[in-house]
Amino acid sequence: MIKTLLSCFFASALCLLPAGGHSWGFAAHRLINRCAVFLLPPAMIGFYKRHIDWLTDHAVDPDKRRYAIADEGPRHFLDLDRYGPPPHRQLPRDWKAAVQAFGEDSLKRYGILPWWVDRMQWRLTKAFQEMDTRSILQLSAEIGHYLSDGHVPLHACSNHNGQFTQQQGIHAFWESRIPERHGSQYDFVIPKAHYLTNPADYCWKRLFESAAAADSVLRIEKELSQSLPADSRYAYEPRNGIVIRQYAARYTDAYHQRLGGMVERRMRQSIHTVASFWYTAWVDAGQPRLDTFTANPFTTADRADWDSLDLRWRRDALRGRSCDAP
Ligand SMILES: [Zn+2]
Repeated sequence: MIKTLLSCFFASALCLLPAGGHSWGFAAHRLINRCAVFLLPPAMIGFYKRHIDWLTDHAVDPDKRRYAIADEGPRHFLDLDRYGPPPHRQLPRDWKAAVQAFGEDSLKRYGILPWWVDRMQWRLTKAFQEMDTRSILQLSAEIGHYLSDGHVPLHACSNHNGQFTQQQGIHAFWESRIPERHGSQYDFVIPKAHYLTNPADYCWKRLFESAAAADSVLRIEKELSQSLPADSRYAYEPRNGIVIRQYAARYTDAYHQRLGGMVERRMRQSIHTVASFWYTAWVDAGQPRLDTFTANPFTTADRADWDSLDLRWRRDALRGRSCDAP
């Protein structure tokens, strides 16, 4: 039943939403946050279900900010291949040590995703402790976005859009076009959230998985393109009511089949990771009773004002109440 409902949501969301040019596509990001709610324990699920539409809609806020705020971009990726072969031992997992080793400018050039997730998790835990409903929702929605980005192989690789291998467009092909055509068949019955004893380490591990899969993402598409006539790759097909040039449906299906379920596995893992981070923040905050929280924190404002929240966190940082993260 849940699977059918989610499939319907995915199919309809994908029809209605704009094409995502970065990170999973908007529809997939929204779906991941929405599905994560259903993996929460009884003490949390009521609160999150009450705000499920908000958490769904605001899953894409970080991408919307991306071109307005200079610091936003690096939070969505980490080019792990810039730091030598796995397991990238020369790259410190601790932010201050990483800055010391490489300098902040260099780190930001190649992405800061896991360190930023660390900071967001710290903020989310604080928000639970302070019973700050608006911040909890804003941070839950947004950490869901960054964590999901970390599950996309090409967010962990410098050849992020196939620009070095004449595969421009492969980024959105993998994360938007494939889920758009096949997501409604994916199995979204996923194990419940679990407590993470070391969330930062967990995030790094998911990112290493993504980096390890990036070669396959690129190689399999290259092999497919070489095995078929050049004119089979793209087609003019309708999308959201207009006809555009995009990866042809048959080409997309062939790529999806050759990937052997990779997109579905990464999407399922994203959902489980997001729910587990939310759950862990709540546990680490002392498991506050969520049924006593403000019923509707957005009656006077359409959404939490990011700038004012960010200013407050920066003030906290100056008072030494912050974590060691960017
Ligand atoms: Zn993103």
